[in-house]
Amino acid sequence: MYVDSHCHLNFPDLAAQLPEILTRMRTNWVGRALLVSVNLTDWPSLMAMVDAQPGFWASVGVHPDYEDTPDPSVDELVRLAGRPKVVAIGETGLDYYRLTGDLEWQRERFRRHIRAARETGKPLIIHTRSAAEDTLRLMKEEGAAEVGGVMHCFTESQAVADAALAMNFHISFSGIVTFKSARDLQAVATSVPADRLLIETDSPYLAPVPFRGKQNDPSKVIHVAEKLAELRGVSVQSIADQSTQNFFNLFKHVDRNASVMDEA
Ligand SMILES: [Zn+2]
Ligand SMILES: [Zn+2]
Repeated sequence: MYVDSHCHLNFPDLAAQLPEILTRMRTNWVGRALLVSVNLTDWPSLMAMVDAQPGFWASVGVHPDYEDTPDPSVDELVRLAGRPKVVAIGETGLDYYRLTGDLEWQRERFRRHIRAARETGKPLIIHTRSAAEDTLRLMKEEGAAEVGGVMHCFTESQAVADAALAMNFHISFSGIVTFKSARDLQAVATSVPADRLLIETDSPYLAPVPFRGKQNDPSKVIHVAEKLAELRGVSVQSIADQSTQNFFNLFKHVDRNASVMDEA
């Protein structure tokens, strides 16, 4: 069975198709998904979806691209992270691509998420774009290695991967690794230790080949696994098993017995 370690199934386009998506997940043996929070306004509906579905888990946090949205304190994040199916803090991090100008608020927000993760002992889901140097610096300054986590939708260099691995982080690959143009990233994907590898869709974005440009959903994570198997010269079964095991090891609050197959 596969696990999609990062998706946004609560976004309206996907939420409206949930029954069909669950059917496709079961057909493709994608038994589990982590629904990742991007802001607190939409969080109650995300939690409602997660609470209603065995095999779904949630994170809590505010994405760096959301500028005009309630910014939680460390205490509030810690309190919300206490809900039973919340297994991670994020997605958090830095994004200097979509937003420019004085982004000190982004860095402060990121620091608060790392502090909340350390306080709860729950791992971090980190988003970084055009900001790798500052992302790594803040991870170091705030002691992110103590809780670890995942560099999600990884698109950075080998050096950034190595620095994150040294800080106890996992590396998660999305559909981008299936793109023809992603040569450097494919090389990174062959170098990540097997026990630090995760797979994700980041759906509704970034559908893998052969669905590139179309809407993405968690059932398509199998194409990321197939590409990693090809690049690493192993069976797709071993990528499925290893990435699922890694998911359990990292997100310790996941109930290993639950999956979307329970209702099939
Ligand atoms: Zn992201
Ligand atoms: Zn995301």
